[in-house]
Amino acid sequence: MTPTATLPVALDAATIIATINTGLFIDGAWRPALSGATFAVENPATSVVLAHVADGGPADADLAIQAAGRAQKAWGKTSPRSRSEILRRAYDLLMSRQEELALVITSEMGKPLADARGEVAYAAEFFRWFSEEAVRVGGDHTITGDGKHRILVTREPVGPCVLVTPWNFPLAMGTRKIGPAIAAGCTIVFKPAELTPLTSLALVDILVEAGLPAGVLNVVTTSKAGSVVEPWMDSGIARKVSFTGSTAVGKLLLEQASRNVMRSSMELGGNAPFIVCADADLDRAVDGAMVAKMRNMGEACTAANRMFVHRSVATEFAAKLAQRMSELSVGDGAADGVNVGPLIEEKALLKVQGLVDDAVARGASVVVGGSREGGAGYFYQPTVLGNVSPDSLLMNTEIFGPVAPVVPFDTEDEAVELANNTPWGLVGYLYTQDIDRAFRLGEDLEVGMLGLNTGMVSNPFAPFGGVKQSGLGREGGKLGIDEYLEYKYLAIPR
Ligand code: NAP
Repeated sequence: MTPTATLPVALDAATIIATINTGLFIDGAWRPALSGATFAVENPATSVVLAHVADGGPADADLAIQAAGRAQKAWGKTSPRSRSEILRRAYDLLMSRQEELALVITSEMGKPLADARGEVAYAAEFFRWFSEEAVRVGGDHTITGDGKHRILVTREPVGPCVLVTPWNFPLAMGTRKIGPAIAAGCTIVFKPAELTPLTSLALVDILVEAGLPAGVLNVVTTSKAGSVVEPWMDSGIARKVSFTGSTAVGKLLLEQASRNVMRSSMELGGNAPFIVCADADLDRAVDGAMVAKMRNMGEACTAANRMFVHRSVATEFAAKLAQRMSELSVGDGAADGVNVGPLIEEKALLKVQGLVDDAVARGASVVVGGSREGGAGYFYQPTVLGNVSPDSLLMNTEIFGPVAPVVPFDTEDEAVELANNTPWGLVGYLYTQDIDRAFRLGEDLEVGMLGLNTGMVSNPFAPFGGVKQSGLGREGGKLGIDEYLEYKYLAIPR
């Protein structure tokens, strides 16, 4: 195993990946899994193995949560300024290594390099934002109505946190949780996704270099998620869980959290409606649709999953969107000029193909795309489907691929009903030039976030999160740190 090292500048992906520690990071030290086991991490563009990473189990999980528990008291009492400065230094380090980290993200996750650079900047901004929030955690003071008591409300770190993240934004989903946890004074046990652990492991070295003390962040990679996370949930030491991933796993973790009544933040799946009204600026709507659909190859919880377009403009919208989709270049995300990388794995590709086949069997037309690309890697063509029937399977499941189903609607009420006809409620997109309609629909749509004439809502300055089965709590913005703080009230006689 290599020692903790600064990532070298301007090297190729293989050389950079060779410098990343591939062990477990527990109590400030790198170590192999107690079993000695490892698992392979592949490049989805080539199926080439990039590295072997320590495969942690329950005994490793126990060491990690014990370390987090021991470190909590002293860490919670450190000054907000010192925590703030660690985050700020980590922000600077992340940005100074943007190119190297982007190469790691592209190698293990597949997104094109330009998108990966964007993810590094987005991810780093959570550290800068929470470095600023760390020193602004306030409290409250009031006098009771009868004038006999002072009420002093203080805020304290919630305690050791279990953080679990998905593979689709391997850096940003981590910093969006680690940033506020550090700012609030919480210690952490962190399990990144099995498919994309390398970026998270590179992040550890950056936080150590920024001055994070031993025991505050403990990272266990594993190929058996439950064997690590469930012992943490049952440990009695962890006081909070913050999870980003599928609704199915989120529900499981909520059940586990109930056993010890743990605070829970859940960023779960989405099924975003993208509504284009008859009065919309159609070119602007197509621009927005390209972002909302194609960012991350459609592998985003925020991806526009269902495009509801007024019947009077549906054919024109689908044709314009198809034209733009057909201009995209599909290939290895590390290659110049590529806009669309591979899907994460073969299983994902087969799922997307199955959803397209089902929609076509129910009467949809393939306006462009509609099948996988030949050769190695898990590539799927950018696809637009016209006249999709609302009972198609892809209307009721996350597509997680570059497929845009266009469904015509006739009335505003129908659009809202179709959009809300899902158990999820993460984000919606609405294109209209009528301000009254914008507010009316904005209020009626059951979502936690709404892009109004924009295809992009993710922003570290904003409270990210959903309603219904898309989750609990908010990440980012002024609310983000609240998820990691408890209130305490002191009653003081006057
Ligand atoms: P996933 O299968 O739910 O996995 C997410 C994380 O949970 C991974 O680290 C995974 O580990 C872990 N996990 C799996 N089974 C577990 C178990 N039994 N106990 C504890 N942890 C377990 O989701 P995914 O496929 O990686 O990510 C895609 C999903 O994430 C989509 O539904 C997407 O919408 C959602 N997402 C939501 C947001 C948001 O902010 N709302 C953002 C991004 C993604 P392994 O990797 O080892 O399986």
